[in-house]
Amino acid sequence: MPSLLVDEIGLLVTNEPELAELERAALVVEDGRVAWAGPAAAAPDADERVGVGGRCVIPGFVDSHAHLVFAGDRSEEFAARSSGRSYEAGGIRTTVAATRAADDAQLKANVARLVAEMQSQGTTTVEIKSGYGLTVEDERRSLAVAQEFTDETTFLGAHVVAPEFGDNPDDYVALVAGAMLDACAAHARWIDVFCERGAFDEEQSRAVLVAGLARGLAARVHANQLGPGPGVRLACELGAASADHCTHLDDGDVSALADSGTVATLLPGAEFSTRSPYPDARRLLDAGVTVALATDCNPGSSYTTSMPFCIALAVREMGMTPAEALWSATMGGARALRRDDVGRLGPGARADFAVLDAPSYVHLAYRPGVFLVEGTWKDGVKLASLGRRSPTS
Ligand SMILES: [Zn+2]
Repeated sequence: MPSLLVDEIGLLVTNEPELAELERAALVVEDGRVAWAGPAAAAPDADERVGVGGRCVIPGFVDSHAHLVFAGDRSEEFAARSSGRSYEAGGIRTTVAATRAADDAQLKANVARLVAEMQSQGTTTVEIKSGYGLTVEDERRSLAVAQEFTDETTFLGAHVVAPEFGDNPDDYVALVAGAMLDACAAHARWIDVFCERGAFDEEQSRAVLVAGLARGLAARVHANQLGPGPGVRLACELGAASADHCTHLDDGDVSALADSGTVATLLPGAEFSTRSPYPDARRLLDAGVTVALATDCNPGSSYTTSMPFCIALAVREMGMTPAEALWSATMGGARALRRDDVGRLGPGARADFAVLDAPSYVHLAYRPGVFLVEGTWKDGVKLASLGRRSPTS
């Protein structure tokens, strides 16, 4: 594969070692990896050259929390919530029923569409969870579909108690930690649990996570989204890579995160879509916690694939600076997935980057809702962009 000089970069963000920004920069890509990054004037020769016309280049977004394997949508529920009506039924069970009824080809087509949306908006790494099948076979095939799109697959059989186990949640936990895990472990890198009042309590969550760890999966936890609870401290205690949501935290939770290697992954799309109070990123950052931003893309509470939208929310609503939000959406996500080959653009990193139609990444928050990604590159190759498809193509 010929080497490639990516030249005329107006502003390059490398995240090396932290948020290093370089004006009038260039990158050299070899075999899908960054071979060199630095001032354009000092760039070494390469076999081929592409100029990006003074645009800003950032590491590709690492979306470390997404629920993409499902069928149907819940726009009616969203409209009802937005007009103040309440409901009893529906919710996640609607999606579980639709997912079970869909064949593999339908599930795969849906994931492909959402991943393409993500890529067109600058995302180059995505984590994908199961959790809308809730039977042994439907969770297994959900993960098999997810595996076709990413190595970062997460078994979330403990999303909610499957409808047919309504009166016997402990029986469902035993299934998840037993036969379902047996069927799913080969298709997953991670195990996750929704530790929340109304989902799984501390004891149930611990049982699921410990079973997954024993099978060689690594842990992540949906924690403290809807109210205070044991999720964050359980995640830290078990050495989870990430505690996700972190909206309702007491001082002990913040200390536990700061003292652990567990990343706090914040998902402002969920608070936006449910009109809920946002997590306090400033408090976490000031305490020394590593913060990631992700979309939580799912049909119920956060049906966005846009990391730029989440960055805009984080800056507007959560006390983050544009630089902090960009770091959290790239390197933060990489940390939440325990990856050192993505989220940065230094030598050895994957050549995964987004070219912004803007002089600076600040525009991601400064121009909310505007499509600013000129091109997304993965492993040194420019991907087709949904957002810039010409009328004739
Ligand atoms: Zn989630």
